[in-house]
Amino acid sequence: MIKNVAVVGSGTMGNGIAHIFAQFGYVVNLIDIDQIALDKAIKVIEKNLERQVVKEILNETQKTGALNNIRTFTSIADGVKNADLIIEAATENIDLKLKIFKDLDTYAPADAILASNTSSISITQIAAVTNRGDKVIGMHFMNPVPVMKLVEVIRGYQTSDETTKTIMSLSADLQKTPVEVNDYPGFVANRILMPMINEAIYTLYEGVAGVYEIDTVMKLGMAHPMGPLQLADFIGLDTCLAILKVLNNGFGNPKYAPCPLLVNMVAAGKKGVKSGEGFYQYTAGKKDLVVAEKFKKS
Ligand code: NAD
Repeated sequence: MIKNVAVVGSGTMGNGIAHIFAQFGYVVNLIDIDQIALDKAIKVIEKNLERQVVKEILNETQKTGALNNIRTFTSIADGVKNADLIIEAATENIDLKLKIFKDLDTYAPADAILASNTSSISITQIAAVTNRGDKVIGMHFMNPVPVMKLVEVIRGYQTSDETTKTIMSLSADLQKTPVEVNDYPGFVANRILMPMINEAIYTLYEGVAGVYEIDTVMKLGMAHPMGPLQLADFIGLDTCLAILKVLNNGFGNPKYAPCPLLVNMVAAGKKGVKSGEGFYQYTAGKKDLVVAEKFKKS
């Protein structure tokens, strides 16, 4: 029976995952190495809960209840010691995740399930650094977590039927739709999405069309709610680059090689929404979509 949940990483995804569990009455320990990220996460959760009140999804009492269910920690050892389930949502970097899972295996109760929200990194490889491979699983939420219905549930090589069943039914309890998939690079979601985003960036890089034109073609022509370049900004360009590298290395197929423009943008610190600029520029409080100066046509 899962009651206490710990979430490791309080960025774009971690705060959404903490939000949804807290909303459904779970006690949530939100852990990050960065106190500033934790403070920001609580503010974002509060703002998103308020949005749900305005939309009449929650009332004021439920909003306050959800906020009161969340505690913050800067130490994994303290944050996971009573957890039944830990969901890791730290930066998409394999060495970092392996280190975190070693720590989780040391400090979490022996029967706790260890899940990763990774977009692409092998669950089997992550499980191999623990002594509980049967209890390690992928629980891949979509961004923004409180809104998006899908949870991609990834079975690693050693993941047990029991662990899979628990996570499938827990996802349904959160009013999400879980889909079970096997553990190969990018799973299903990003194996299909990232080549499209990369191709959109190549289309810009090769001068076929501008940012506005590429996104408009995909929005109006394919009925996508957001163009691929805007979506890349929303996901985080650093995260997109990391996923493409996993696909490229995992399949050994050059068709997944990240576009040099994406590589350059990440090196220049242009990570999309989270850094204030990517293909578009983002000013706090403004909703208009403005193409970044670099990509404006003269
Ligand atoms: P992010 O950069 O917004 O946040 C990552 C957070 O992890 C930061 O707050 C950072 O301080 C924290 N962190 C780094 N090292 C840590 C450690 N040792 N212990 C605790 N916290 C640590 O990243 P994100 O977009 O939230 O992505 C997190 C994970 O979710 C990645 O694996 C990513 O692939 C996956 N994911 C992202 C999206 C998306 O749309 N951004 C969607 C689905 C899955």
